[in-house]
Order: sequence, then structure tokens, then C-alpha cells
Amino acid sequence: MNEKKGIILTGDRPTGPLHLGHYVGSLRQRVALQHQYKQFIIVADIQALTDNADHPEKIHNNMIEVVLDYLAVGIDPKVTTIFIQSLVPELAELTIYYMNLVSVARLERNPTVKEEIAQRGFQKSLPTGFLCYPISQAADITAFGADTVPVGDDQLPMLEQAREIARTFNRMYNCNVLVEPQALLSDVSRLMGTDGKAKMSKSAGNAIALKDSEEVIRQKVKKMYTDPGHLRVEDSGKVEGNPVFAYLDAFDPDKENLQKMKEHYQRGGLGDGTIKQRLLEVLLAELGPIRERRKQFAKDPTYVMQILKEGTEAARVVAAQTLLEVRRTMKIDYFG
Ligand code: ATP
Ligand code: MG
Repeated sequence: MNEKKGIILTGDRPTGPLHLGHYVGSLRQRVALQHQYKQFIIVADIQALTDNADHPEKIHNNMIEVVLDYLAVGIDPKVTTIFIQSLVPELAELTIYYMNLVSVARLERNPTVKEEIAQRGFQKSLPTGFLCYPISQAADITAFGADTVPVGDDQLPMLEQAREIARTFNRMYNCNVLVEPQALLSDVSRLMGTDGKAKMSKSAGNAIALKDSEEVIRQKVKKMYTDPGHLRVEDSGKVEGNPVFAYLDAFDPDKENLQKMKEHYQRGGLGDGTIKQRLLEVLLAELGPIRERRKQFAKDPTYVMQILKEGTEAARVVAAQTLLEVRRTMKIDYFG
């Protein structure tokens, strides 16, 4: 009997260690909800290969890094199933069937994919797999019957696409096999980069990783973008678009003092060095325990790989059941 509130499917591309954006955008919610929901976390290596096919070793090496980050923030493999996308081939098969339900024009309209294509400089060299990754994401979500997907706001177009696919499938085959998933956004659904760009991301080199050492965090904070118009301490400075304040908003527990700092900065007389010092204190306090837990888990890579192996086996059973129903609905289960 399933007494859980619902089913969560969410995950990450193994393209680098996880960062503060993942933490506030999705990881914290996963930790908070893992006992109430049946939770699946996918490490999306197939999706990562869609723009890294020439660097498979990067994906290989980051697999364990991402899982260490999960364990470090408090994801409990006893209640959360963590698995590897490419080792659940049922997902690839579902993707192939769903491809017939989506037009190329619809894929080309996806604003997040459009932005990512521009960022990566794909012009004529756009891999087909990259354009289609929202379809494979729909397969990942629907294979587990997930109704809830805790993600950052860059994923909203993917969720819309997944809902459309589920709806189209159910309508076309006059059934109720696929669940339409909902995105679950946190209160910080998009953390900006240390360079002031709209999104902190692994691929943009503007991230503070959860595993960064104190020294690396210190260097990154020191180099952070602030308000370029705030030249002298006495000048008034901008709080909006200033990543130091964005991170303080996300992490500083002393909101009263933060409000005072913001007013002081806007008025003039508060230097970038001082706000960065406060940010450094706050980040070191938040990330210290995570880094320590990560170090402990990193001592036993065999245990980490075992979690992935068992999680993948468990995930495969669930995905195979959905695939069976999909095949039956499409009348291609020839031998029953
Ligand atoms: P890449 O640059 O390789 O795409 P990424 O940093 O965008 O990496 P993903 O693995 O694509 O990370 O995203 C995993 C999850 O983390 C998604 O739910 C995404 O919305 C969320 N996420 C990523 N970056 C941020 C951010 N800056 N703020 C909030 N959520 C984020
Ligand atoms: Mg991404």
C-alpha cells in the first residue's frame, strides 16, 4: 500500500559537481520531501551526452561526484531511489515512442533549449539528441508515474512539454496511462551566477560548488560581480542584479541585519568588501557541514556505487511496468 503523498522524479546531469543553484532550486526540497513522497532521482547521463558526446569521460567522472553531493546534503538512499539513466533502457524506448507525438517546430520553440543552443554556439552543428532532450525528460518523468518534479524555473518549459506528451498520448490512445506532472518550484527557483548572469550553471563557469574548499569559496566570493557603478564606498549601490545580495537573500539567516545592509548599500557608505565578508561567513557556515559529510562518503566509493547499482535495479522494475502498459496501449505487445 502506498501511503505517500505522491511520486517525485527529479535529477541532474552529471556534467560537474552540484552548486548553490542546485541546492536552493531543488536539492533542499528533495531532502525535505523524501519521507512524504516516493522519490526517484535520476542522474541523467544520456541527457548529459547530448552536448558532451565527445567527452564521455567527463560524464563518467562526474557520476560519483553528483551522488556524493546528494548524500552530503542529506538525501537518504534508504527512502530515495537514485539511479543511472542509461542503465534503464526502458526510458530510451519510451523516448522513441514519444518522438512521434511531438513536432520538430514544437521542440524548436522551447525557450530554455533555444537559450542553451545559443550559449553553446550550436548552429548547423546542433545534435539531434540535444534538440530532443525534452522528450527524453518526459520519458524519465512519466516512466515513474511522477506527479511532482522539484526543479529550477529553467525547467518549466520541459514540464510543459512533458504534460503535453502525456496528454497527447492519453488522448490519442483513449487511455489514462500517463500521469501529467507538475513542477514544484522553491522560493529561490533561479540563483544567478557569480558573474551576475541570470543562471548559475555547471557549464558556465560561474558556480560555487557544494564541495568547494574554504579557500576556493573565498577566492570566488572575492572575484564576484557586484554593481559596476559602485566604485567608491560612499557611492550608492544597487541591490537588484547584485549576486552578493541574491546569495545573502538565499542563505543569510539574519534577515533583519540583511535588510539594514541593503539599505546602507543603497544609501552609500557600505563597501563591496564588507558585504562579501558577510557572504563568506554565511556560505562557510552553510557549506562546512556538507563538505564534511561529503568527505566521509568519499572515503567509500564502493558503497556509493552500490547505492547506484541497487537504485538502478529498483528503478528499472518500475520503468519496465510503465513501458509494458505503453506497449499494450499502443497494441504492440505482440506476444501478450
Ligand atoms: P548544465 O550547465 O550542465 O546544464 P546545470 O547547472 O544547469 O548544468 P542541471 O543538471 O541541468 O544543472 O540541472 C539540475 C537541476 O538543478 C534542474 O532542476 C535545474 O532547474 C536546477 N538548477 C540548475 N541551476 C540552477 C540555478 N542556478 N538555480 C536554481 N535551480 C537550478
Ligand atoms: Mg542545465
